[in-house]
Amino acid sequence: MTQKWDVVIVGGGLAGYVAANYLAKSNLSVLLLEKGTKVGGRARTDKMKQQYFNLGPHALYKKGKAIPILEELGININGTSPKLSGTVIENNIEYPAPFSPLGIFTTNFLTWRERLEWINTMTKVIRVDPEKLAQQAFQQWVEQAVLSKKVQSLLYLLGRLATYCHAPEQVTAKIMISHLKTAMGGVLYLDEGWQTIIDQLHNKAVISGVQVQSHTAVKLIDPVEPNHFKIVLLNDVEIRSKYVISTTGPHELQKLLADKATHNQSNFFTQIKPIKGATLDVALTQLPNPKRLFAMGITDPFYYSVHSPYARLSDDKKCAVLHVFKYHHPDDSIDSRKVKTELEKFLEKMQPGWQKYVITSRFLPQISVNQRLPRIGDEEELHRSKTEIPGLYIAGDWASLDSILAEGATSSGKQAAKDLLLICNTH
Ligand SMILES: Cc1cc2nc3c(=O)[nH]c(=O)nc-3n(C[C@H](O)[C@H](O)[C@H](O)COP(=O)(O)OP(=O)(O)OC[C@H]3O[C@@H](n4cnc5c(N)ncnc54)[C@H](O)[C@@H]3O)c2cc1C
Repeated sequence: MTQKWDVVIVGGGLAGYVAANYLAKSNLSVLLLEKGTKVGGRARTDKMKQQYFNLGPHALYKKGKAIPILEELGININGTSPKLSGTVIENNIEYPAPFSPLGIFTTNFLTWRERLEWINTMTKVIRVDPEKLAQQAFQQWVEQAVLSKKVQSLLYLLGRLATYCHAPEQVTAKIMISHLKTAMGGVLYLDEGWQTIIDQLHNKAVISGVQVQSHTAVKLIDPVEPNHFKIVLLNDVEIRSKYVISTTGPHELQKLLADKATHNQSNFFTQIKPIKGATLDVALTQLPNPKRLFAMGITDPFYYSVHSPYARLSDDKKCAVLHVFKYHHPDDSIDSRKVKTELEKFLEKMQPGWQKYVITSRFLPQISVNQRLPRIGDEEELHRSKTEIPGLYIAGDWASLDSILAEGATSSGKQAAKDLLLICNTH
């Protein structure tokens, strides 16, 4: 017999689970389908040899949209903020990072004049209204706002840190500045990783009556008529629902809709590029140099951070869990072996002899950090694509008009559920 549901949610990551939890408060029947054997999507944490590995470095903005949404859903968030100290590296030379008053005072990366410009630039970031920057690329804004090339390079570095975007000439200044502002409020590294958020969202949804089926891939979303969908699974089982919330990426969604995607949707989804990076996740029995906890490349797009001093990420307190990351440019062609060597070399600079202490490690050469590199003009297209098929709601880190990453995933998940409930209540 064909199963019938009020709502089918495709995808069990942050967006899908946030949507499920908001819908769980209504009396709609909700089915969440996840193709992976494990739920969580990119907010998953894998426990390897008693070490907790997020999928690359994960930091939750303290002043962002995600925390209030998660708290509204009753999720406990346990973690600590890392210190703002560390180093920045240019041409193989390390300098104190000018991200704190002490760092600005002590860094020899900047002259006194540049230090002043750096402080002024931070003030400009705080004061500017991102909404007014939708038609500008980040690079354009930086070049207008800042004279010194060194200060510009620091702003690009902070932009990468806050958004993972390494294409200042392509990305909209609106999203970059808005995330920079949020990032200035600090971040949290979470005890036992982001899976703790997913597990709580999962348990709450299930207790409230949401049915979750993992290891179940959707093959087709067919809008038969308004508010009547046929959903076909990979094993050809058919499910019917009144509404669908899709949280897959844009390319996957286009495939699922097949010829039912509108012309506008197809055009827009095809040209979306993801934000990608390479991550080397490492657990060590000890740090050869316990003082070195954070570093970023200025011209080379590298990141290094030891997360375990701030979050419980190992069953053994003495062990260290760290992430080394390379931000890819969207036009990069990636040579995995070369990238791995680069990341290992960067780590060797930070922690000489680290290889002797490895408990376990994982290298992912090109992972999608965010499913959309936000570009000028995306907003209108996104808005249009989201409303073209009645009863289909689109969420996920690429589907928010004004934010990306976990902020975009949670806020679009909430928005999709709210929009859907509004329609149900008016019918
Ligand atoms: C290396 C890395 C570092 C990051 N760091 C940060 C950070 O510091 N701060 C931050 O805020 N964010 C960070 N993020 C981003 C954050 O993890 C994601 O934005 C967020 O988890 C995305 O959630 P989502 O639900 O939109 O997508 P996903 O987590 O991708 O969930 C979508 C789900 O849909 C499932 N699915 C897809 N197709 C189908 C189908 N056909 N049928 C059934 N299921 C399907 C997928 O398996 C997946 O589980 C990082 C991401 C990465 C990869």
